[in-house]
Amino acid sequence: MNILSLTCKDLAAELDRLHGKGHYHARALYRDVFKLGRRTCAESPEFADAPTLAAQLAADLRFPDCRISAQHDDGSVLKFITTLADGETIESVLIPDKGRTTLCVSSQVGCRMGCKFCVTGQMGLRRHLQVEEIVWQLYAARFVLKRPVNNIVFMGMGEPLDNVEPVIQAVRVMADQRGLNLACSHMTVSTAGHVDGLRRLAAERLPNLRLAVSIHAANDALRNQLVPLNVRYPLARLKDALLAFPLPRRGVFFIEYVQLAGVNDSPEHAEALARYLAGLPVRVNVIPYNGGSSRLFVTPDRARVDQFCDALVAQGLFVRRRHPRGRNVMAACGQLGGVIA
Ligand code: SF4
Repeated sequence: MNILSLTCKDLAAELDRLHGKGHYHARALYRDVFKLGRRTCAESPEFADAPTLAAQLAADLRFPDCRISAQHDDGSVLKFITTLADGETIESVLIPDKGRTTLCVSSQVGCRMGCKFCVTGQMGLRRHLQVEEIVWQLYAARFVLKRPVNNIVFMGMGEPLDNVEPVIQAVRVMADQRGLNLACSHMTVSTAGHVDGLRRLAAERLPNLRLAVSIHAANDALRNQLVPLNVRYPLARLKDALLAFPLPRRGVFFIEYVQLAGVNDSPEHAEALARYLAGLPVRVNVIPYNGGSSRLFVTPDRARVDQFCDALVAQGLFVRRRHPRGRNVMAACGQLGGVIA
């Protein structure tokens, strides 16, 4: 049993299938693994009268063969690198802020979307992550690094909706109240506009799951260049998918816009973005491009960022200017998978 890929209900079904046992033992085992960080249930009072079953379960349990192979802390964020069973590596970032900690998780090794400003995109896709490898990142943050995690964002390596089934199951596991217990309202799945993945996610109706959509340009010609996925799913199709997405009451889409100096950062670009977003409930996050050590584009200066944000606000949009953090450890947006500077 790959325990990190199972909800408590899934585990109960497995215990029933393998040992004729049900929810009572499943809940105890699940609590021990996901709340206490144990790898066995031998110490649980629920198994005091069933040492043979406890031993069988210990033999059945499988944890992903993952280990934290490096950590880089710049004082504001902590990036940790996990080496997977096949030697591939993924990156995750812990971001403390105002007493809360957000964990940015990867969903793939590399990414095939090829966004032009993104270091991960330059790697190409090496492989999808399995459910337990996604969940491992939260498990490791809590039980290996001993960090509290209050929020999850799927904004690490990979396009989550290009690996949609494992991502959906990972959300279910991380949200399970009998285990890791992170409400869907504290998880954000980010997409570059994968329309088929959006439809699949919409059908799942994960309650209150937050959705971030990276737009970066509001006309197809420019977006085709910056986000090649746009050739497959042009802006009009993406908007139709968003209009059909079952947001909760008062829910919003978080629109991500990486601002690239001289490319997509003029007041006219802002007006085009506002026109595109008309009719959608949104919050816009403007993210000045992070150069890091790989200078694919130019970072806009402060005046240019302010001008762009002001133009959006003038169109009635709610805008937040994001301050890039983690430049020193290549942990900022679009930088995972890069060489440590
Ligand atoms: S920005 Fe996201 S979707 Fe685009 S290449 Fe990078 S990881 Fe992939």
